[in-house]
Amino acid sequence: MKSHTRVAVIGGGVVGCSVLYHLTKAGWKDVVLIEREQLTAGSTWHAAGGFHTLNGDPNVAKLQGYTIGLYDELEKISGQSCGLHRSGGLLLADTPARM
Ligand SMILES: Cc1cc2nc3c(=O)[nH]c(=O)nc-3n(C[C@H](O)[C@H](O)[C@H](O)COP(=O)(O)OP(=O)(O)OC[C@H]3O[C@@H](n4cnc5c(N)ncnc54)[C@H](O)[C@@H]3O)c2cc1C
Repeated sequence: MKSHTRVAVIGGGVVGCSVLYHLTKAGWKDVVLIEREQLTAGSTWHAAGGFHTLNGDPNVAKLQGYTIGLYDELEKISGQSCGLHRSGGLLLADTPARM
């Protein structure tokens, strides 16, 4: 394993993998991902796969939309399925403020 690197991303969950992916996509080469168990062994392993673009903050909603589109990008460049099922969802507002 390398002993020196420009960037060390610690944790191979969805966030760490995304950081590493986007760094390399931006042209960074001297980067390394350090995972103490195996990729996605943490919270990411347990995620139910629910995602949507409904958010009170338009910037977060935009980021969520980008993330959903990213799976198509990953499937295209890797030639592998992410196993993603876009099942849709239902969000209920139980107060006028939430509406
Ligand atoms: C039951 C459950 C259901 C969920 N459902 C959803 C859902 O439907 N939709 C949604 O968007 N989110 C969901 N989430 C939330 C989502 O899973 C987390 O927000 C997300 O996975 C966090 O990713 P992460 O990369 O930050 O953390 P993690 O996936 O936990 O990754 C952290 C990684 O760091 C590693 N690590 C920790 N310390 C070190 C160290 N010192 N050295 C090296 N490696 C280290 C761990 O082994 C782990 O692999 C759910 C979470 C749970 C628990």
